[in-house]
Amino acid sequence: MEHYIPINNSLLVNDPSFQSSRSSPLILIPCMGCHLNDYSLVLQDARIKCTISIRINRLSVFNIFHRSNQVHKRYANLLLKKYFVSTKPLHFIRYSAHSIYLAQHNINTITPVHTSLSANSQTSDNDDIIKQLTLPIQSALLCKDFIKSSLIDIAKKFLPFTNFEFYSDGSVSNIGTINSKSGFGWLQTNPSIPQLSFNGSTIFFPSSFKSESLAILTILLVLPFYATCHIYTDSQNCIDIFNQKLLSPTISPRRRLKQNNFLIWDLIFWLISHHHLTVHLVKVKGHSNNKGNDQADALAKKGRISDDPILINHKFFQQSSLALFNYNHIYIIDRNIRKWSDTPIQSRIFNMAVNNSSLSPINHQITHGDIDWHYTKQWINFNPTDTPTSTKLRNIQSSKIKKSTFNHPTGNILQRNYPDLYPLGRINCTECSFDEDTNSHIGLCPAHRSAIEPLLSKFKQKLIDLIKDEHTSSFSFDIECRINNSNMFKLLPNILDTARQADPTTLIRIPREQPWILLLHHLIPRDLAVFFDNYFSKKNERSRFLIQFVSEFISELTTITWSSRSRSFKRWEKSLDITLKKKKNYRKNKSPSRLQPPLSADETPLIAPFQRRRQYTRYYHNKVLPYFKQLVNIDVSACIRWTTCNFLHSGTWESYRDSLLFNLDQFSPIQSLLDSYNPPRT
Ligand SMILES: [Zn+2]
Ligand SMILES: [Zn+2]
Repeated sequence: MEHYIPINNSLLVNDPSFQSSRSSPLILIPCMGCHLNDYSLVLQDARIKCTISIRINRLSVFNIFHRSNQVHKRYANLLLKKYFVSTKPLHFIRYSAHSIYLAQHNINTITPVHTSLSANSQTSDNDDIIKQLTLPIQSALLCKDFIKSSLIDIAKKFLPFTNFEFYSDGSVSNIGTINSKSGFGWLQTNPSIPQLSFNGSTIFFPSSFKSESLAILTILLVLPFYATCHIYTDSQNCIDIFNQKLLSPTISPRRRLKQNNFLIWDLIFWLISHHHLTVHLVKVKGHSNNKGNDQADALAKKGRISDDPILINHKFFQQSSLALFNYNHIYIIDRNIRKWSDTPIQSRIFNMAVNNSSLSPINHQITHGDIDWHYTKQWINFNPTDTPTSTKLRNIQSSKIKKSTFNHPTGNILQRNYPDLYPLGRINCTECSFDEDTNSHIGLCPAHRSAIEPLLSKFKQKLIDLIKDEHTSSFSFDIECRINNSNMFKLLPNILDTARQADPTTLIRIPREQPWILLLHHLIPRDLAVFFDNYFSKKNERSRFLIQFVSEFISELTTITWSSRSRSFKRWEKSLDITLKKKKNYRKNKSPSRLQPPLSADETPLIAPFQRRRQYTRYYHNKVLPYFKQLVNIDVSACIRWTTCNFLHSGTWESYRDSLLFNLDQFSPIQSLLDSYNPPRT
């Protein structure tokens, strides 16, 4: 197949009639051979003109001037052997080829708005303008068709006018819960123009800012070209963003994508520039008995009820080649993605951490939500020293982490780490000498009970006094009774003994009826946190009192349990001549051959990396090890539920971790909501 290519423009430079590239004609000459040459089709002689094979399902055709045409004859002086002149210039053909390509691949693009007036009658002119005006409504919104037609109807009625005045408002209810609903509404108040109103709802990342922004956007969508409007809103945030963006119209895509709800804001500024709108945002005080504002507020609240949300179609901006991230193929994450990524990452880390098998002694506490992770995080991060970093702080933190993950070096762990240093067989608790010395034994050990019991009553009284003196909540009559009844301050010997007598093959589980044991592991029990949540109304006061109380409580508990265990264990170690020095030099003194199985004779060193890898795999899949990763507490998809809740309803993922606990049933309404809102993939 012979093909033609555009003639090199340098040959035409001398011709004064081709000054602008727009008017330069497309002169085609036979290709003399190029990289498109398909040699498979011309086996005999590759020197002939190049041959292209291409699979197409549609051929685009354009016209050329006939040889006898004057335009064709004009280029006779170029002395070309064979040439054709296209009736359309090159840039036009390129543009149409691109459009055909996009159309064939079902990519919707926005055709530029033509303001040129055709010679048609007035009515079809109007139709044309309406068509162009409402194009963004048609293609930039993802919503039910009846919503689009109601917006188009409003646009038609507004068409003859230029000076508009709107009151707009957004409203979000129950934000941060799975019942959150966002609505927005506006009304036109200029008396010489039809006083139309509109309301709607939206979903995903609800915020009042998003609702207010969407109200402004839907106003701009219905305005005629070259209109001027004043929008009265009570959202200072919207006004700030609007003015800031208006002043710096060219911002980098990187900065643009950091703007929350950038899909809405991009469309707002696209409309202002392409529809030549003049927009003024005016601040109006919320709930100040302003009639227009109250009406807008009522409309926004009405909008919340709507089950048919309005979303922005990111494909409207197809021509910008920026890649956008979506959440689980549901919708674009139109906010600072780097910042937001913390949500899925942190929730996944937590999900993995609680599934670590070292936490199996508190398996039930985790699955039943007995641990207050919010306060536990605060307590673990609590710095009692007056410097941000210090050796002392490092030791405190490391001890907290080890105890909370059940990795404190008790007998069983030391035996695992230094198999040659410690005696074989079970290492028993050096205080009671009945049970194995493990992390979970510390709260169950019978040797500590006599000291723990008075301590629990001491701190029970302390808590009663603290709440009586400092409580800020309105109800307080039952403080003493509630605290007295709480298992938090009760030592129940029978329950502790039952937990101890688990048969040796199964793991020891810390009884749920004894929440104070959690404090020994630096985990804050809900049974304790609930008193602070109930009797202190201010959030920061609540945390401050709780951390202070817990700090003293844990410190005294540790003295009579961990510290006492540690002293007697050290005496026992000394009796066996196990010294710190020996532990420190343990690895050094071991020859590598003892730690790694020696290579057999037939294995060449080349296989060594595989050998090492296999050891690693064996290490992590060894169920005997306490940190063997195994799903014990929460299914792996829990972090996806928490993240999805954040995506659907805002609020931190932690708030869903705590309120949805780990119950799958509570997630099913969200799943059905997800299915119903999944926008069509175009
Ligand atoms: Zn070619
Ligand atoms: Zn013991």
